[in-house]
This record gives sequence, structure tokens and C-alpha cells, in this order.
Amino acid sequence: MKKVILVMLISCFGTSLLFAQQKPKRQKCSVDMLGFLSKGIDTAKARGVADNYYMWDNGATIVVKFVGGGSPLMRKKVMEFAREWEQYANVKLQFVADNTPATNMRVRLGSGAGHNSYVGTYCNLMPQNTQTMNLDTADFIDYGYYMTQLKARIARKDTVIYSWDPEKFIADIKSKPNIVWAFTSMKGTVLHEFGHALGLLHEQSFPNAIRWNKADSIYEKYEREQGWDKAKVDAQVFEVSDQFYTNGTKYDPKSIMQYAIDASETLNGFSVPRNDVLSPGDKMLISTLYPKGQSVSVKEVPKVSVTNLVKIDVVNGTATKKGISIYPVFDIKSNSKLGQVYYVARLVDEDGYYIKDNDNKFNWGGYVATYVKANLLPNSKLSYNKLSQKNLELFLPYSEIPALNGKKVTIEFTVVLDDIVNGQLDKLMYYSLTKPLSLPR
Ligand SMILES: [Zn+2]
Repeated sequence: MKKVILVMLISCFGTSLLFAQQKPKRQKCSVDMLGFLSKGIDTAKARGVADNYYMWDNGATIVVKFVGGGSPLMRKKVMEFAREWEQYANVKLQFVADNTPATNMRVRLGSGAGHNSYVGTYCNLMPQNTQTMNLDTADFIDYGYYMTQLKARIARKDTVIYSWDPEKFIADIKSKPNIVWAFTSMKGTVLHEFGHALGLLHEQSFPNAIRWNKADSIYEKYEREQGWDKAKVDAQVFEVSDQFYTNGTKYDPKSIMQYAIDASETLNGFSVPRNDVLSPGDKMLISTLYPKGQSVSVKEVPKVSVTNLVKIDVVNGTATKKGISIYPVFDIKSNSKLGQVYYVARLVDEDGYYIKDNDNKFNWGGYVATYVKANLLPNSKLSYNKLSQKNLELFLPYSEIPALNGKKVTIEFTVVLDDIVNGQLDKLMYYSLTKPLSLPR
């Protein structure tokens, strides 16, 4: 029997404090909608309860794989918990082998990096070699169990010599062959992240629902507990959505998509406890967005999907045609609503920034670009530039291309949708980049 040497009260107190910080309520999840795009982009887009433009097709089979990591038990639990959504939503989560080449969602299970997911079909904009969701398994450990065990050993004075080191304590737990997991809270986190992956957004962004206390101390708390800077706190916690995205629902503090909120974070003492189960509101919303026994949701909005982007041809001009012509080769399909789309080609410099436009001509969002607008009829399919007769040209005059001083540029091709009827503009439907090119002027 080994002798105990430790500073009991302080270390135990320290531990619980540490775990309070390690595991706030639910480790905050960061939903990254636009973060992967070039740095010049405007990320101040409305968020809300559900982003209808990134819903999967009703009845869709969504192909999901794990990108390495996770014990068989962890994986089994993730699948089991995530599939609870299938009871209410008319979608199927099809988990496939890790080596499946083409999938819709890719889940990393591993220690660290927090929890996050792309929203709905935004996952499809991500390259196949990147993950679309992160589940931080260190957050799933049942720290309460290990603390109780440690305290009992301390009380019995029969434990190992412990000069208190919280990191070592956690590392010890992680190295155990049969870790005790906190499945209840893990289930809440998995449901929350898969909620994002099905198109749901944070409930706390519901307009006028929460009177946030934006004091410095609150920002400091997020910095300390989550490592988030002010901009990230503003985007992930305080952002208020457009009323449109509430889908006519009422604010639901019991939603799985609602963070736990401490009374200190609001001006009126409002608080929300941690929630690990789907609320009646969650079930109702998801079944309205993905109705069973019905082909299309009443909440359907115009959407388009781009497939088979074969290439983006860039052709230099002639003596009479002074400019470059960009010919993306792809198929596009609209849903049951009339959609107004823009095909946009924008220049990106070597450092990943858009290039500022100076003359208000040939620009998109203030950056050098060229675009073509098209109205797509409901339920239509089109192919562009697949025949010898080209049917979509994005032309950029040489005079509009800034001095690049020998540097290469990348051309970003996007399909952006305006939903005029609902007043929702600039919804990104497709995204692709060429390789770096040298452009003549
Ligand atoms: Zn979240």
C-alpha cells in the first residue's frame, strides 16, 4: 500500500474548479459557416434557429463516416445518439466505412479541439479530405466518477502518492483501458452537433430572446474557458438571427440547440440549465423541416445544387477581345421554388485575400470579380459548357485586372442564390477554387 502525500482540501477544491472550467456546461460548440472561405469575406450573415437554405433534401440519405479516431464503443454511441434525430426527421444517417471516398459528413472523434460542425448541406462545400464535425472525446469522460473515486482513495489514505497535477490526473484517466464515460451529457452534445449538421442553429440567437450582458468580464470568461476572442464570442454567442430563420417557432429555452446560460451572462438574471435531451420544440421543428409522408416541407425555400464540376477553363483574350473568359463546366439542379442565382468568378491573391476593386465595375462585394445572373425555373436541370457551344461565359476585361507584379491569382467560382420572395440574399450554394494561375493584363 502506497502512502498518500497530498494537500487534500486545496487539491480537491482545485480539481472541482478545474473540472468546472474543463467542462463548463456543454463545451461550447462553434459553428463555422464561412470560416473556410477567403479572409476577405463578410461573415456577418444572419443566423437563426434553422437555416432553411442548408437543409438536406427531404428523405435524403446522408452518408457519414468517421475520419479515424474513436474507440468502437465511442463510435457505437455516437451513431446511436445521432440517430435519435431519425425518429423525427425524414432523413437517414448512413454511417459507412472510414475508407469510403465520397461522403456528406466526416466526423472526427478525438481528444481536444472542442465540438463543432458545419451547418447542413454546407458540409457538401467542404473538400472530401477535411472533417465536417469535431467531437471532443475528452469532454465525454465522466470526471464526476473519477473525482468521487479519488476522494474515496484520499479518505482511505490508500492511494498513490499524488503531488497534485490536474493535467497528469486527466492524462491518467485517458490512459485507462476502460474509461468511464458520461453518456448522458455525451448524448446531449452529439444530438446538438448533429442538429447543426441537419441545418439547425443556436437557439440563443432567437431574436429578442436573451438580454445578454456583454460586460468585459463575460468576454474574459469565454477567453479563459474556451479560448475564444471577442469576435468569436460575438459570432458564436451573442449573434442574433433574422426573424425569418425562426421558422415561425417560439423561443425554446429547452432546445438541445440552446447553450446553458449562467445568470451572470444576462442583464435580467435569466439562466438556462444544461439540457441533454431533445425538447418537444426540437422534435416539432425538425419534423416540419423534414416531414415524413410528405415530399416537400412547407418551409422549403429556393435552393440549387451543383454537381459534376469538371473544370473551370480560363481562356485568354485576343486582339479584339481584351480580357479573360472563364468557363466553368458543371451541372445544376433547382428545387421546387424559383431561384435567382448568380454565377460569380472572383479573384483571390496568393495570400488568400480578395482583391479590392477601385472603379465599381466588375466587382462582387467590392472585390474584383465578374458574374452572370440567371433565373432557374423550379425543378430544372441544366448543364453548362458541356457542349462545344459554350453557354456560360464569365468575362473579365484586362483593364479590370489590377497589377499583380508577377504574382499568381486563384479564381474562386461560386454560385450564390437570392431568395427575393423571402428577402434572403447572398446564400452561398456552391464554392470552388482553381489552381493558382498567371493572368495576362
Ligand atoms: Zn452549437
